[in-house]
Amino acid sequence: MNVRASLTNAIPELVAIRQDLHAHPELGLEEVRTSDVIARHLEAYGYKVSRGLARTGLVATLSHGTGRRSVGIRADIDALPILEETGLAYASKTPGLMHACGHDGHTAMLLGAARAIAERRNFDGTVHLIFQPAEENFGGAKIMVEEGLFDRFPCDAVFALHNEPGLPFGQFAFRDGAIMAAVDEARITLNGRGGHGAEPQETADPIVAGASIVMALQTVVSRNIHPLDPTVVTVGSFHAGSASNIIPERAEIVVGIRSFDPAVRDELERRIRLIAERQAESYEMTATVDYLRSYDATINHSAETDLLRDIAIRFAGPEKVADLPRPFMGSEDFAYMLKERPGSYFFLGARASEKDRPLHHPGYNFNDDLLPIGAAFWTEVVETYLKPA
Ligand SMILES: [Zn+2]
Ligand SMILES: [Zn+2]
Repeated sequence: MNVRASLTNAIPELVAIRQDLHAHPELGLEEVRTSDVIARHLEAYGYKVSRGLARTGLVATLSHGTGRRSVGIRADIDALPILEETGLAYASKTPGLMHACGHDGHTAMLLGAARAIAERRNFDGTVHLIFQPAEENFGGAKIMVEEGLFDRFPCDAVFALHNEPGLPFGQFAFRDGAIMAAVDEARITLNGRGGHGAEPQETADPIVAGASIVMALQTVVSRNIHPLDPTVVTVGSFHAGSASNIIPERAEIVVGIRSFDPAVRDELERRIRLIAERQAESYEMTATVDYLRSYDATINHSAETDLLRDIAIRFAGPEKVADLPRPFMGSEDFAYMLKERPGSYFFLGARASEKDRPLHHPGYNFNDDLLPIGAAFWTEVVETYLKPA
């Protein structure tokens, strides 16, 4: 029986799992109920379940035959701090938390694959299904790796996917090399000298200095970085002051920074610090810059990307398979698994109608029609990678 046929009976269960997870979203490293639900299903399917990696993460292991090869597939399980506005019957029961990135769907898909892989036993070797917490905030992938993920669960290769409402439904989108950017954050605090709004000469106005810094930061990408190195510098927040007759003591500017090349990443930090500090100095105040390096860039490996593309062409037909012409400027902590093991991360198109909302939107909902596609595809990947002799 082919993989899709063996999953037909499982579809109602997958939809029920997905909608139950959707109704009960949990933030990164707090996915206690989510983790329990996942573990219960995996144990019922016959997996050995190891819990407590990165607090709420788990790995489900199944071996078959005598093969020594092993493969890992990762799903992220966390939700976001967003007030849901979908109006769905199974909308979040926790106000202010929402599965707005489809990790409920990624999880349900991998559980569907878990069931099919276990039922079919059409592989030779070991499969590790990695359910990872805290993709959105604390870098659960990095924590799992630091806690010895690949020492305890050796994987010859690792794979992951993300649904993408910006791509047509069922479209597979691959990319060799860089696929997601590195992300950093600079918090600039301007320490001015406050006073009466009618006596500016007695003050050092952090709003004026901040406005100047915001404009000067626009020159980093345009004047300091090579035009062919993709980079973004976004001032996402600027807070200062309270009334027209007061010059405040302080202003705070928060900058989001995206890049790929490590040398470019260093240069962005150097220029942003220099602009903030020296511009502040020219306005006779100081700037404190807290520069936080967050996720590294996600870099796919060639052989594993080629393998996924070949499987997808067989699975969905060549018209449903494309290579992304350029990487996304978003970020993804699967980067840290790809730094340890060869593997590949790809997008699965989710757009069914013009009304579909983007990821992280309060009206977004994971497209359940993707569940059998994702579950069947992961099953194909395992059965291909661990093909019996
Ligand atoms: Zn997200
Ligand atoms: Zn996501």
